[in-house]
Amino acid sequence: MKKSNKQLKERGDKVFIGTYARYPAAMVKGSGCRLTDADGKEYVDFMAGIAVCGLGHAHPKITEAICHQAGELVHVSNLYYTEPQIELAELITDNSFGEKLFLCNSGAEANEAAIKLARIYSGEGRYKIISLSGSFHGRTLATVAATGQPKFHKGFEPLPEGFLHAPFGDLQALEQLIDGSTCAILCEPLQGEGGVRPLAKEYLQGIKALCEKHNLLLIFDEIQTGMGRTGTLFAYEQLDIEPDILTMAKALGSGLPIGAMLTSVKIAESFVPGTHASTFGGNPVASAAAVATLKIMLADGFLAGVRQKGEYFQAELGKLAERFPAMISSVRGMGLLVGAVLTEKGVIHGTEIVNKMFDRGFLMNFAGNVVLRFVPPLIVTKEEIDLLVTTLAEVLAEFCYADTRLA
Ligand SMILES: *Cc1c(COP(=O)(O)O)cnc(C)c1O
Repeated sequence: MKKSNKQLKERGDKVFIGTYARYPAAMVKGSGCRLTDADGKEYVDFMAGIAVCGLGHAHPKITEAICHQAGELVHVSNLYYTEPQIELAELITDNSFGEKLFLCNSGAEANEAAIKLARIYSGEGRYKIISLSGSFHGRTLATVAATGQPKFHKGFEPLPEGFLHAPFGDLQALEQLIDGSTCAILCEPLQGEGGVRPLAKEYLQGIKALCEKHNLLLIFDEIQTGMGRTGTLFAYEQLDIEPDILTMAKALGSGLPIGAMLTSVKIAESFVPGTHASTFGGNPVASAAAVATLKIMLADGFLAGVRQKGEYFQAELGKLAERFPAMISSVRGMGLLVGAVLTEKGVIHGTEIVNKMFDRGFLMNFAGNVVLRFVPPLIVTKEEIDLLVTTLAEVLAEFCYADTRLA
């Protein structure tokens, strides 16, 4: 007999440690921007597995790459070379500022590698890393310490030493935190989890200038903004600055777990055999999926399409903001990493809006307690965007009539 959402939820809740507040659906199949749950209900996916499924679900080229590689070789560890891994590193270094790559399995691991590299490169006594308030860098102890949101620290103290947080948008305050023991500044070009909050180009250029002035490394966490999400392969390309180290993960393997840290030859030289490692890092199957992903994203017109659809989506949401000023105050983002900023009154209903959209078959979330966040697969169509916007308008209208405070 086919299992239902309810049955699967009950079984799952019995055996899982309660780290997630899951929606009451068990997904069984995906195709393009659509998902189907165990009860047969269809969803239009504007979540993409948290900005992971850039090419949507079950993309035939990704399926083929995974199946082919799985039939050849799944794992040998990094005691040996494998071609998918080499091809992946070549593709990334050929299409970015970077010259050398370290492969791992997740975003947090990529940031851990970056933190360790920044410290060992900078030498004795230089260990402090400054990140920004509102940032998100992962859940391991070091990356959670780097994360500039106290709610993620609570209960886990003492955290590793040497992580400082500068108030968002304030270059002077940032410079005041720098001393002789600082080795790097770590930031996302656009804060994803923190509420789809872009850092102004001038601000980022100011951060770069501080790094140059004080001889610090600039680490860009492009785990969410990378892999075409913003309309260029990496977001830094739109900012006229280059970081010294860049981390990526999420969409890199189209859903297979893989992360990477990218840097220059000079900085990379501080890592030698024995300084850092990962058993699974750059696993051939995950690497093959990443190679196939990159080839599609780098093909003619793909990234331009992301920029066009991102502009269209943001403009359509902008119209909603005009229609529902009591709920949406503005729209922001880069490419297809888009947030509708809720008003003070709108925020009260953020979770409910997302739940109502879920009931209507649309997946999205409420991020940073301020925005409705949309991170659809990059292959999303104009029609799917229209469908989401129309449905969101219906939901917002319900709130405006239901809640007299919003009248
Ligand atoms: C998701 C995310 C991470 C953490 O990645 P994991 O794969 O969950 O460890 C780190 N930084 C940013 C910006 C992210 O969006």
